[in-house]
Amino acid sequence: MTQLPEVEVIRKDLEREIVGKRIKDVTVRSASLVGHQRNRPEFYNALEGRKIDAIMRRGTRLLLSLDDAHTLIVRLGSQATMTRETANREGGKDTQLVAVFTTGGALHYVDPDKDGEVAVVPTSDLAGMDELTPAGIDPLADQFTWPAFSRELVRRKMKLKSLLVDETFIIGLGDLYSDEILWTAGLDGARVSNTLSAQEVRRLYRAVLEVLYEAVKQGGTADAEGAQDEGDSGDFGDYINVYGRAGLPCARCRQPISLVKIDRKRSSYHCINCQT
Ligand SMILES: [Zn+2]
Repeated sequence: MTQLPEVEVIRKDLEREIVGKRIKDVTVRSASLVGHQRNRPEFYNALEGRKIDAIMRRGTRLLLSLDDAHTLIVRLGSQATMTRETANREGGKDTQLVAVFTTGGALHYVDPDKDGEVAVVPTSDLAGMDELTPAGIDPLADQFTWPAFSRELVRRKMKLKSLLVDETFIIGLGDLYSDEILWTAGLDGARVSNTLSAQEVRRLYRAVLEVLYEAVKQGGTADAEGAQDEGDSGDFGDYINVYGRAGLPCARCRQPISLVKIDRKRSSYHCINCQT
């Protein structure tokens, strides 16, 4: 699952591996990937011959800034990855884009669900693009402060689980990370956000940071319900305490983990003994 930690892991890896490289040759498998651009030749023209100057992240979008004042925007598909490969490595059936570099090596974009999108736009247009201005807080950015977090919990009056997966509040956590955060904080996802004590708010805030930074450090995780064998999945899977572990013992108190219903749409894996 491509949540915020996975996007940040991809960004960091690419920053180390492909910045400074010049693109020689681009191939895109399906036209739908270049939705914004009118057609594939136009997309190839926009990339071929360009050098990659920097890799940034805006919310869950990756921005590859090019040396001609244009930027390649990547909206990753729900199971997508981007990796550096050797130039002669053939893409598999899910490889939607291959960009070969002049000095060897290539960038592969692999998207099994084919629900991502890429586009090259003038860098000066980025500021006005709504899709690059997430409504919610980016918990890996400087704007994620304890007072701002606390204020929103009081204002929103929502169940914690529903709030943590609400992208207008905080971006990129999804079901897995929200459950891990609640377990780490020792809080029940059915608690309503404005009823937390100051100490509990602090615990939750710290848990968001702790879980996300650990996930980035471990290289993220594949969706616990699939894709564990893709080879690209990170090691955070070994650190999962509750998500997908119904019936297994809690790592803190050994009571079995339960899957509980939070509202009509959401359930949450949690330990009824130590999350209160
Ligand atoms: Zn427990």
